[in-house]
Amino acid sequence: MIRLIAISIGLAVALTGPLVGVAHAADKPRLILQITVDQMRGDLPTRYRERLGEGGLRYLLDQGIHYNNAHHTHANTETVVGHTTLATGANPAAHGMVGNLWFDRNAGKTVYNIEDPNYSVLTGGAGVDADTEIDPTQKAASTDGRSPKAILTSTFGDELSTATAGRAKVFGVSVKDRGAVSMAGHTGKAFWFSKSAGQFVTSNYYYDQYPEWVVQWNAKGMPQTYSGKSWELLNPISTYLFGDRDDQKWEPDFAGFGRTFPHPFGTTDSKYFTTLLTLSPAGDQITADFAKALIDNEGIGEDEITDFLGVSFSATDYVGHFYGPSSLESEDNILQLDRALADLFAYIDKKIGLDRTLIVLSADHGAPEAPGYLEELGGLGGYVTPDAWDTAPAAERIKAKFGISGTLIEGYDHPYLYLSEEVRNNDAIDQTALETAIADELVGFDGVAYAVSSSNLREGALPDNALTRAVLNNYHPDRSGDIYVVFKPGWFINDMDGLSVTVTHGSPWRYDTFVPIIFAGNGISQQTVSRRVHTVDVAITLSTMMGTPPPSGAAGEVLLEVLGQ
Ligand SMILES: [Zn+2]
Repeated sequence: MIRLIAISIGLAVALTGPLVGVAHAADKPRLILQITVDQMRGDLPTRYRERLGEGGLRYLLDQGIHYNNAHHTHANTETVVGHTTLATGANPAAHGMVGNLWFDRNAGKTVYNIEDPNYSVLTGGAGVDADTEIDPTQKAASTDGRSPKAILTSTFGDELSTATAGRAKVFGVSVKDRGAVSMAGHTGKAFWFSKSAGQFVTSNYYYDQYPEWVVQWNAKGMPQTYSGKSWELLNPISTYLFGDRDDQKWEPDFAGFGRTFPHPFGTTDSKYFTTLLTLSPAGDQITADFAKALIDNEGIGEDEITDFLGVSFSATDYVGHFYGPSSLESEDNILQLDRALADLFAYIDKKIGLDRTLIVLSADHGAPEAPGYLEELGGLGGYVTPDAWDTAPAAERIKAKFGISGTLIEGYDHPYLYLSEEVRNNDAIDQTALETAIADELVGFDGVAYAVSSSNLREGALPDNALTRAVLNNYHPDRSGDIYVVFKPGWFINDMDGLSVTVTHGSPWRYDTFVPIIFAGNGISQQTVSRRVHTVDVAITLSTMMGTPPPSGAAGEVLLEVLGQ
């Protein structure tokens, strides 16, 4: 009998190819939902596994393919870099998003990644409010214009759109503009949350006027319903891993939000009301609600042409920066994100069917631990204070050696040091020797592990190791600076434009490169894969599964398990 079954299965395989492969190939999903959790380090979904509810992260972990050793392969683990890498499958060297900020040599100023003065936000007064903005990179933008034009390669969503004569619907949604714009790509539509307007907005790159449903969603005033309320714990405090550590001395008390639960949002007329919403699970609840309205009103997943929706959840990032990943706030935030995901998945199941929806969840970067927390446990780490660096003697030595009389350094936009134009344009100076000399001086500074000269990188003069490759993957000749600075593991600058935060990501070390990659739904069965995989693998896997061309800069490898191979 067993032998007969074996023969039958053998015959079926001979006629149709691998059985699992058939199941996947036959059913293209109606929706590909790409979820990016901002700053979700790879261990965090499973750290709280037994505390999770049903239907959210547990659905993904229990029914999906979980890659538990996934990493970014670029050095500058910042938000727009990671999001664009996930969307395009390209390295920043190709997609061009080398950092949240870079120094634009033509414009002679530091620019914000997706700023584009040609495409204004549709809502007046919805640009960045420099008075209350806690994200220093946002403040570098001098206009409210936003578009994906600075992203230099196509996204998977772009390929889906061009392969279907524009019939595939492609959208990106996030609290952060850069989270939404990168996911929507060049052909999709992006919506993000304006903290100054308290509404979801878009720019005239995407629309001449708002769709009626967006006007209605904003009119219902969901963010404003949090007025006078507080961020409260989801569960009894005794059930939390960090339940006895609510008040950790390194946590800042920002704008009356406090270091312990409950954290009050204030009222709609408080200066930081919307900022505090985004610094709590409320930001993700608002984002998920907007995504549900989008699915309903745009008819996402309603026909056989696969649609793409990218949703980036930002609260984990803001909460992580302020309280660190090992805090009661971060733990509760993950448990509440889990509930927001469960709610979104239940809605999608009702409208489209989770069996016809392929979900892929990952993160734009991980996060370090708070140095104070590590110190208590005996770990390694600390804050780098560039203000304490007396750069003058080093600069004088370099200037004397190379005969430079004017300005040596234009500025530092993490992670790059930019030399002055005057020095760069001086043919009498050996640029490689100059950069190498500066790099040698920098490694003598507190907290600096390596400094990498871009000329040495271009000339292939550096050892072929993981760090060099990560810095090379990050290198774009028009945007990268002249020296890449890497701090020691566990060390980072915690000064966000005058605001002291608990942790800052952005290093090439493993706690920052480590993210989850989980594929679920559309016939996928549960598997945990510990082979090392990379975030550039996500887009090429999606395009191969869908039979579209790969995104133009795609650098990764196909994750065969997702294709049932
Ligand atoms: Zn981020």
